[in-house]
Amino acid sequence: MEKEKENFEKDFLSFLNEGGLVWGPSPEIYGGLAGFYVYGPVGKLLKNKVENSIRRVFNIHGFRELECPMVVPDIVWKASGHLDTFKDRVIKCSKCNSVFRADKLIQEKYDVPADGFSDEKLLDFIKEKKIKCPTCDGALEGKINSQSLKMKTTVAGQDAALRPETATVTYLSYPRTYNYFKKKLPFGVFQIGKAFRNEISPRQHVLRGREFTQAEGQIFVDPQEKNNWQKYDEIKNESLPFWDYKSQESESAVKSISVAEALKKGFIKSQAYGWCIWLAYTHFKSLGIPAEKIRLRQHHPDEKAFYADDAWDIEIKLNLYGWFEVCGVHDRTDYDLKQHSKFSGKDLVAERENGEKFVPHIL
Ligand SMILES: [Zn+2]
Repeated sequence: MEKEKENFEKDFLSFLNEGGLVWGPSPEIYGGLAGFYVYGPVGKLLKNKVENSIRRVFNIHGFRELECPMVVPDIVWKASGHLDTFKDRVIKCSKCNSVFRADKLIQEKYDVPADGFSDEKLLDFIKEKKIKCPTCDGALEGKINSQSLKMKTTVAGQDAALRPETATVTYLSYPRTYNYFKKKLPFGVFQIGKAFRNEISPRQHVLRGREFTQAEGQIFVDPQEKNNWQKYDEIKNESLPFWDYKSQESESAVKSISVAEALKKGFIKSQAYGWCIWLAYTHFKSLGIPAEKIRLRQHHPDEKAFYADDAWDIEIKLNLYGWFEVCGVHDRTDYDLKQHSKFSGKDLVAERENGEKFVPHIL
């Protein structure tokens, strides 16, 4: 089976090369730097098509597009929390000194969502399954270290970084976007652009590159209106494959239930958030991915990113790499605007009709 998969991967990658889809790692004539790829003529056309379909969907729903810088001063990442927490947990081979992402080592082989594991659980799993170094088959060290994903640079004597995600940068123009939308919430903006992560060991081709394109939409909403969501009624009876974290723990199958039922069961906390999940899910389905190969997986409370109050991933089952996260839907609450307000000294608030001021939530 392993052999069969390897051959399939080889055939597939040579198809990507010869068909003019994706070339690399780039620059190939210099031996290539892992995690960087060239989209060839056909690949670029296909990528444009996907990006434009995302653009169209966001626009239909009233989101407006922004383009923000990719180079961002460190103060922003300090405020957002990325500077201190944006790290990968790595494990080293005691024989050849290669370093690997501990969660990915497990995930690639056993198809379990190991990014939610504690350090201890990662080590236990590696020990129990006797996972060895994929490079030399040597023994892995018995400890987990963390490594920053930040891609550093210096501009005008200031420390800066290439953005590890597009989202944070979108929030920084909040006073401008709030004005642009005539100080009326909710409003949505989106970005399609590059993000950079200094991955320790890029693998799985473009799926885990060091430079990649992200598309993200952000809705700014009055927290009091999250359960009074205009578009909710149109979609509440739609069935989606929700897989909550408790079902994952008890290894129960994914069940399709309506958005309304998911809200009633407490899988999700608000109508607005349910609408966001619905939007992301239907878009992936409209790209032609078969329904049985898409699922919505809730993050375990231990796994959630530091900024998220609720988090569900859209995962797609790939022939080569198993279930793979293609999209994250997060309720970031007022975390980001509060943090950036604290660090910048600027008021990042909105006003209700009665003159009450509040910090908007971001979905
Ligand atoms: Zn090794």
